[in-house]
Amino acid sequence: MDATSIIESLNDAQKEAVTAPNKALLVLAGAGSGKTRVLVHRIAWLVKVEQVSPHSILAVTFTNKAAKEMLGRVEDMLAMPARGMWIGTFHSIAHRLLRAHYRDAGLPEGFQILDAQDQLRVIKRVMKELNLDDNEWPPKQAQWFINAKKDDGLRPGDIHHHGDFFVSTMLKVYYAYEEACKTAGLVDFNELLLRAYELWAKNPHILKHYQERFQHILVDEFQDTNAIQYAWIRLLCNDKNRITIVGDDDQSIYGWRGAKIENIQQFENDFPDCKISRLEQNYRSTATILKAANAVIAYNSERMGKSLWTDGNEGEPITIYAAFNEQEEARFIAARIEDWVQQGNNHSEIAVLYRSNAQSRILEDAMLNRNIPYRIYGGLRFFERAEIKDTLAYLRLMTNRDDDASFERVVNTPARGLGEKSVDLVRAQARSDETSLWKAANKMVVEQLLPPRARTAMATFLHLINELDSSTAELDLWEQTEVVIEHSGLMDKVSKEKGEKAQARKENLQELVNATREFDPDEVIPEETPDMTPLTAFIAHASLEAGDTQAEEYQDAVQMMTLHSAKGLEFPLVFIAGMEEKLFPHQMSLDEPGGLEEERRLAYVGITRAMKQLYLTYAEKRRMWGRETYPTVSRFINEIPSELMTEVRLNTQVQRPVFQKESPIRKKGPDGFHLGQLVSHPKFGKGIIINYEGDGPQASVQVNFEKEGLKKLMLAYAKLEPA
Ligand code: ATP
Ligand code: MG
Repeated sequence: MDATSIIESLNDAQKEAVTAPNKALLVLAGAGSGKTRVLVHRIAWLVKVEQVSPHSILAVTFTNKAAKEMLGRVEDMLAMPARGMWIGTFHSIAHRLLRAHYRDAGLPEGFQILDAQDQLRVIKRVMKELNLDDNEWPPKQAQWFINAKKDDGLRPGDIHHHGDFFVSTMLKVYYAYEEACKTAGLVDFNELLLRAYELWAKNPHILKHYQERFQHILVDEFQDTNAIQYAWIRLLCNDKNRITIVGDDDQSIYGWRGAKIENIQQFENDFPDCKISRLEQNYRSTATILKAANAVIAYNSERMGKSLWTDGNEGEPITIYAAFNEQEEARFIAARIEDWVQQGNNHSEIAVLYRSNAQSRILEDAMLNRNIPYRIYGGLRFFERAEIKDTLAYLRLMTNRDDDASFERVVNTPARGLGEKSVDLVRAQARSDETSLWKAANKMVVEQLLPPRARTAMATFLHLINELDSSTAELDLWEQTEVVIEHSGLMDKVSKEKGEKAQARKENLQELVNATREFDPDEVIPEETPDMTPLTAFIAHASLEAGDTQAEEYQDAVQMMTLHSAKGLEFPLVFIAGMEEKLFPHQMSLDEPGGLEEERRLAYVGITRAMKQLYLTYAEKRRMWGRETYPTVSRFINEIPSELMTEVRLNTQVQRPVFQKESPIRKKGPDGFHLGQLVSHPKFGKGIIINYEGDGPQASVQVNFEKEGLKKLMLAYAKLEPA
């Protein structure tokens, strides 16, 4: 591809941004305006036209999937491999740095990544050791405290408690937790970032090397960077290299995790000569969807102000559906998905979005009932499932015996007669010797410090790990995995369980073997660390990339995910379920300053994912937090101008005024039919019109028949009559 073709498919504003010669460039623009596209084309431009080596490009994306796509696009455009480029999330790039410089970063060579669940487990353990009562001091709160401090770049020594009892207690936990991670060689997600920052801050020669290497730094979704991420980027910039950031203040949705919209202003202050580029044309959504998104976000007050237009067509109205309860909501969504697919579309063009992970179960049930293939993106992800984590814990212990979190996880899984009491003894020993659980357990076995039965069981466990390690050292990764699943007794354990869940667990274990078989270490092992074993690479990949198993990725499946994980993505058909006050906007946000505005940005993100058609659904009755609730419709629906919506109602069980502002639009339908009208059909009997499309000979209606259920009919042929 030559220079012209890199920019010919862009509008003028995009072209200008792609080719800008400036040292610092800020692209500030609304959803679907081509920010990510500009980033991709800019990389291609740099390599092709400015003759920059891919080796000197660092690009930060929001997800690992986005990184892969970006690399693929760039390589397609350049018609050459661009592997020398560093491209990934902040976390994966930090991880790569730490592997390459583990000594300077103060980490053991085999350090492992601790995910949120395991982190909580370690925190619980240290809190127990500090004799802090779970009820008085919820471990989740401590986890939140520690993570928030790390997001801000603060070590326990940097924090002053000023006599505040809460802070001083949390500091004790933070200290003890750091100690525990150190002995075990564990690094949590936030630690990856903080360590990578400290690595550069404390080692000027390493920093200098990367400053010279990375002449171009590009960051997508900049509005959601936190303090430590920005500080890290800032360190990397010297007076020579060039930086491009793209973002949208209206899509900042990770404030609760420490993201700072202010980083955008900070960037302008730090780079006073930066060129600001604005893109205003949206290429993603229909005019109707775009108008709705613009109307909702206009309710926010603190905005940098942007306008967004499209020359696309109006498209379908946004469909609002009030379900009787959450099951019925899920059934409605599943039925619409079937319709859509019957019209010749793919499952993978559909996304079902929700505010809270807990909503997924019922939606999943509805998909399963109708045999609709689906994939959960985020949430309880493949690599987070219990049996997968158990297997990974064995594999992790094989590479790093000091990994306490993994030791705890599998020392008695499957059960081998090591009760809490014996494990407590090991914990106490480890504490007093200041070593890992593994070392303490070995000592206790040798010195006979455990009760006889526990001692035998522990010896068996230690032997098992050593044996698995030495006997599989020469095998391929997938064979290693298979051996571990068999010989650890994990397969036996799930095989003995009954029911559908057990079957799913078994399949998951088999799927893990598939995943290791398809895993290509060459794609992941960075050039700086050629000695990394495929196993270490795979474990890191599993921790960083939870959610993507290769096998699931290419399947034609409906994508289900939280609104948060949908950022940056787009789908022809989008459902947002649970459009209810207290669920969305979330209850918790209502009590926090700025909380509601962040929820509204999340609504903006959700709406702008849709390209052609958007459904917003809510339930009039929902079991939430263990009790029955009667929620009201989300204010975000009321903020959409009514002429952009059409309402569908299948039931009349709960009567309540739905719209606070104006009554829902009940447009007159084709040929004198209207929504909600009772009709009869010679074959299907009586039913109610719930939707219609088009007019004239093309007009079709959707009817919910008493006996036959939902049918879509062409009016011209249907012989429908008012009943
Ligand atoms: P978000 O804020 O949601 O991340 P974005 O600003 O990054 O959105 P992109 O994802 O880059 O937007 O682009 C949105 C869609 O519009 C994509 O399908 C992209 O290919 C398309 N698009 C962008 N610019 C153009 C253009 N000039 N011509 C045709 N299609 C375009
Ligand atoms: Mg984008």
